Amino acid sequence: MYKNFKDHLAKELDSIKEAGLYKNERVIVTPQSADIKVEGNDGEVLNFCANNYLGLADNSRLIEAAREAMENRGYGMSSVRFICGTQDLHKQLEKAISDYFKTEDTILYAACFDANGGLFEPLFSEEDAIISDSLNHASIIDGVRLCKAKRFRYANADMEDLERCLKEADNQGCRFKIIATDGVFSMDGNVAPMDKICALAEKCGALVMVDESHSAGVVGPTGHGVAEQFDCYGKIDIFTGTLGKAFGGAMGGFTTGPKEVIDMLRQRSRPYLFSNSVAPSIVGASLEMFKMLKESNELNAKLKENVNYFREKMLAAGFDIKPTQSAICAVMLYDAKLSQEFAAEMQKEGIFVTGFYYPVVPKGQARIRVQLSAAHEREHLDRAVDAFIKVGRKLGVLNK
Ligand SMILES: *Cc1c(COP(=O)(O)O)cnc(C)c1O
Repeated sequence: MYKNFKDHLAKELDSIKEAGLYKNERVIVTPQSADIKVEGNDGEVLNFCANNYLGLADNSRLIEAAREAMENRGYGMSSVRFICGTQDLHKQLEKAISDYFKTEDTILYAACFDANGGLFEPLFSEEDAIISDSLNHASIIDGVRLCKAKRFRYANADMEDLERCLKEADNQGCRFKIIATDGVFSMDGNVAPMDKICALAEKCGALVMVDESHSAGVVGPTGHGVAEQFDCYGKIDIFTGTLGKAFGGAMGGFTTGPKEVIDMLRQRSRPYLFSNSVAPSIVGASLEMFKMLKESNELNAKLKENVNYFREKMLAAGFDIKPTQSAICAVMLYDAKLSQEFAAEMQKEGIFVTGFYYPVVPKGQARIRVQLSAAHEREHLDRAVDAFIKVGRKLGVLNK
């Protein structure tokens, strides 16, 4: 039986390879950090493609907190939350997240993918409208698909187009409308204009949901995300986010917002009802992480310093950089093949960066994406910029 299916898969896999979209895994043999060791590669490589924005992925205080939680609360929960999978630590972490985002209540998930996947379907139905940014994360798109509400899509961060969608939803007589957006978009590193989105929402009577995965811990005066950056507290209704990026980098996701919303999700959100509780070690370390962020703003300040330093050096060298507003810096090359060559040459120089091209980004918008971290030291940034200049000259991107 398998033979025909095998041939079919082999053909599909070949076409993925031909399109240049085949994904290989790089095998790291050290903890995640600014400098890592990779299997089959001599020596260390500098890592500029992790979402380790605050550099906490190998933080000793978090490792110790994880160890302590594991010793006191065990290895695993072997249950979903509502049967027998809720410990005091889970409740404490939900409270810490609510405090961080200044919301009423929080529900934990195994991942933000699940938070988004389980958000819309329990809350909205045929009579309602979800109005979604065209560059939203795959998990928002999937979550919207699982819901029966009418769907509207607006061009990335385009407020005229958003208003068009809101009017269209009204014309179709929709009951509730919710605007859904990423806080920071992962390809350009641009921040959603939350002040304008919230103003339109107020004008048109819509709810607002934002996914803070790339923005929490990063943007805003003290890194509290887009609500802080645009002073939109009380205007953004629902936040989702991950514990797998700036917030420690392990895993886990959450939805935080008004208590009725969270209560309804606890009753009806399928990834919450039918998937295991987050492990005590991760919950304990996440609690410690929020404590650290409360004690000091040092990591966020260092991240911002690094972003500014890197961006200025790259602009001075003559690179074409998207106006970076987050920890994601898009170095524009425009040509797909060049982006792949560039990334490969950078790897030879011991610098890990990722080249993206169509269909991940629009046609003719190929680029190298650099992700900065509080774990980077000046010396790391200098080495990366030097490698960019060397490869840029070699490949004719820079003509100096
Ligand atoms: C990374 C990311 C997710 C997924 O988070 P996980 O916790 O890894 O599932 C969801 N939304 C956005 C915007 C992301 O960037």
